[in-house]
Amino acid sequence: MERRTFPGGVHVPHFKELTEHKPIVRAREPKRIVLPLSQHTGAPCEPLVREGDHVKLGQKIGASEAFVSAPIHSSVSGTVAAVQPFLHPALGREVLSIIIDSDGQDSVHEEVRPKGDYASFSVDEVKRMIREAGIVGLGGAAFPTAVKVSPPKEKRIDAYILNGAECEPFLTADHRLMLERPEDILYGLKVLMYAVGVQNGYICIEDNKPDALREMRKVAANEPSIKVVELKTRYPQGSEKQIIKAVLNREVPPGGLPFDVGVMVSNVGTAAAVADVFKKGLPLVERVVTVTGHALVDQQNFQVKIGTLFSDLIDQVGGYKVEPGKIIMGGPMMGIAQMTAEVPVIKGTSGILVLTRQQADWGEPSPCIKCAKCVDACPVNLLPVFIGGYAEREMYDVAESMNALDCIECGCCAYVCPARRPLTQAIRVAKWEINERRKKRGKK
Ligand code: SF4
Ligand code: SF4
Repeated sequence: MERRTFPGGVHVPHFKELTEHKPIVRAREPKRIVLPLSQHTGAPCEPLVREGDHVKLGQKIGASEAFVSAPIHSSVSGTVAAVQPFLHPALGREVLSIIIDSDGQDSVHEEVRPKGDYASFSVDEVKRMIREAGIVGLGGAAFPTAVKVSPPKEKRIDAYILNGAECEPFLTADHRLMLERPEDILYGLKVLMYAVGVQNGYICIEDNKPDALREMRKVAANEPSIKVVELKTRYPQGSEKQIIKAVLNREVPPGGLPFDVGVMVSNVGTAAAVADVFKKGLPLVERVVTVTGHALVDQQNFQVKIGTLFSDLIDQVGGYKVEPGKIIMGGPMMGIAQMTAEVPVIKGTSGILVLTRQQADWGEPSPCIKCAKCVDACPVNLLPVFIGGYAEREMYDVAESMNALDCIECGCCAYVCPARRPLTQAIRVAKWEINERRKKRGKK
């Protein structure tokens, strides 16, 4: 059978054997949860509760009127201990958060009840339910799903891709979800296709997960409008533009979005969360998190209540085996390094990775030897050697003219660089500077 892929990218050691054969287990009930009011792309929420309030599981406790936003729900029943700033694992700074002490009862809010068959609702009602449930992309970007399935009217969408590539090393949360909840993933895809009015669905999985391919093919066997596609294992296969190129041979133009080529892409975990909304009435209050890395005593995939502290989960795998070199939210290529494990799991937390000191030691950068390996590896055809160089010299206008904003921050260039140049880091800073300048110039 034909396996699809994209140009560029790299082969990386995947280290998935640490958790890929371990079924998802429910993490123990957290005594206290921390829910940042910004867990998504878009406007932060305003708190709807105050210190001392009693809340129930699934109760909406934060919301915003802004179009691009997603409400926050409590993942426990208990008492609001505080509404105060707390360190955020994605933003690296303190963000207003709701801290709740669990009563251990899991008393469910009255609005948490199965919605029933999605096809009995209008498209607008389905979108409203997805929004009200606080669903965001669970692959990491945390873009509100209700906004994603509402593209501009002039865009004609004809394909919905469900991304099960999970190309980041170490992470296996999506893999286990495809093995353990394939029907829910399929159901969620059908809801998303209904919301967008799309006839063609694709569930895309890398060939290093043959069991997941088998399971998803089994459940999709009687769905003529949904294809399960086998992709070659190559990093960053799971990136939106790369998966669209591999599956449909369409190229998203520089500065463009998937809907510019008639496509929507969501993660398999997002589809399972959408299924939970209709089948159980459950808003996004929990997710699967891979807790892994060679610095830990053990590794596991957990079903985790959002708001649980990283330290609590690390404790549940036996703690550290050796002194940790680096704690990362997500995978080693695109994940975010943490200053401490006292940060909460948020909606976009796909994994908690703890590297040993040896693994984390990247070595000192040396001068560029002009080998062009970074250019060959870049999956979006950029010139990382030059963009990175201009970024380091703070020549952001030149970096912008070389399409720095198209960088997907995949880390391939830095990974292959024999001189250990911190290319991705430099380009990330350049992107931030360019966006800030554009905002000031009122271009956005
Ligand atoms: S320049 Fe950006 S997109 Fe290209 S390889 Fe480097 S990090 Fe990836
Ligand atoms: S891979 Fe590193 S050494 Fe080679 S051209 Fe790129 S920046 Fe220079």
